[in-house]
Amino acid sequence: MNNTNISIIPAPKKMRLTKGFFALDSNSRIRNNRVLDTSANQFRKFLKEMTGIAVSRKSSSAGIGNIIKLELSSSDGDINRESYELKITPSAIFIKAPAAAGIFYGIQTLMQIIMSCPASAASCVNLPCLEIEDAPRFEWRGFMLDSSRHFQDIATIKKLIDALAFYKINRLHWHFIDGQSWRFKSEKYPGLADFISGISTEKGCYTVKQMRDVVQYAAERHIVVYPELEMPGHSRAALTIKPQLKCHGISDNAVVNEYCLGRAATAKFHKEIIREIATIFPAPYIHLGGDEASDANWKSCKYCKAAMIKNGLENTALLQKDFMKKMAEYVHSMDKISIAWADKLALGIPAGQIVQGWSDNDNGNESYNAAVKGFKTINSYHRGVYFDYPQNADEDKYQWMIDLPIEKVYAFDPVPAGLSPEQEKLVLGSEACLWTELVPQEKVFRKVFPRLLAFAEIVWSEKSKLNFEDFSKRSAIHCGIFTKSGYN
Ligand SMILES: [Zn+2]
Repeated sequence: MNNTNISIIPAPKKMRLTKGFFALDSNSRIRNNRVLDTSANQFRKFLKEMTGIAVSRKSSSAGIGNIIKLELSSSDGDINRESYELKITPSAIFIKAPAAAGIFYGIQTLMQIIMSCPASAASCVNLPCLEIEDAPRFEWRGFMLDSSRHFQDIATIKKLIDALAFYKINRLHWHFIDGQSWRFKSEKYPGLADFISGISTEKGCYTVKQMRDVVQYAAERHIVVYPELEMPGHSRAALTIKPQLKCHGISDNAVVNEYCLGRAATAKFHKEIIREIATIFPAPYIHLGGDEASDANWKSCKYCKAAMIKNGLENTALLQKDFMKKMAEYVHSMDKISIAWADKLALGIPAGQIVQGWSDNDNGNESYNAAVKGFKTINSYHRGVYFDYPQNADEDKYQWMIDLPIEKVYAFDPVPAGLSPEQEKLVLGSEACLWTELVPQEKVFRKVFPRLLAFAEIVWSEKSKLNFEDFSKRSAIHCGIFTKSGYN
């Protein structure tokens, strides 16, 4: 077999080919510590499905030949818990890491090597001997899925999680509340999930049980799922069901996107939702939305005006900031970190919050501005990672969307140019965002692939490793794999 077929995405930090082959066949055995059983079983299942080879568990008393050994190393000090070492020798495969996440990533790499080496008729895969040392460039390697504009069923979300995990993505930001629908079947407020309107008229929402199932499924693949609750804008769906949270004087039938920030009931409602959602998502993060709110109603509402006077807030921007600060503090009181879209950064952010930047509307790249101000940030700059934008000329698009072919994703650096080394450290990473105005469920994977591969590489691999020509060759092999696996 030809070693040049080895096609690992994202590119590992260090890889060295050595002499010989490991023959993977039904006599191969996996040896692992009990705490790594989940990963070992996933690997076993993958092997059976992809190559037909069934491998079993090795008893600890047996010899050392023909084994795949998963081993936790000492995790003292400053070591990156997502790092791993993979060594293939003629007699054994070793995956060693300081934590289960690293073992999992070593297995994903091994799976990719196996997929680049087709099985022979004798149900044996010859794997080239090599040594890999690997660790991610960024701790935050996220994907945002909009399940509000269009609904995705649980099977599709799990299939997406499989693909994310295969490329070492470690965050799923789940956006299931927006103006068009509220897809969280809250047990406290079940009626909120009844309103579906606008772009997507599909019914569908997620029960608490289904959400827990997604969280668990992702956790087994080392992906943290965290929820986004939209406020104070993008809230038409909730306000249609709960018109008593609109500003004073607005009829129940009027289309309104912003909550009244002067009514005590608004804060009470959001705290109840935050409390409920915190019991479903064990993630240490809750995203509070926070962008694109109009202040038109706040200016004339008697409750909003009274709140501004009472709290000494000079304008509606400060009223909004004050409300978002209270919600952030509530999240922080539960030992979780709040995240919000960059909005009015000049007015500051609640202490401890993470800013997610996307636009360059006002004053340059928002994540750049956030880092300059000393805030931690996730850089989802739309010209680099908005996967709702078309990658080919024949795709539907809105007028505001630029073309975003894979080359542009690959050329995007999550660290904006011009930051000092200290400011650069505030850029935690990036999140590719799939807004679904134009993306019904059946088009999800057409939007995700192949750009996800480019994204995975820019958030994992060292900048010095990035080479689009080399990446293109590797990604061509992967696209063939995914077409075979039933992705569109
Ligand atoms: Zn109001």
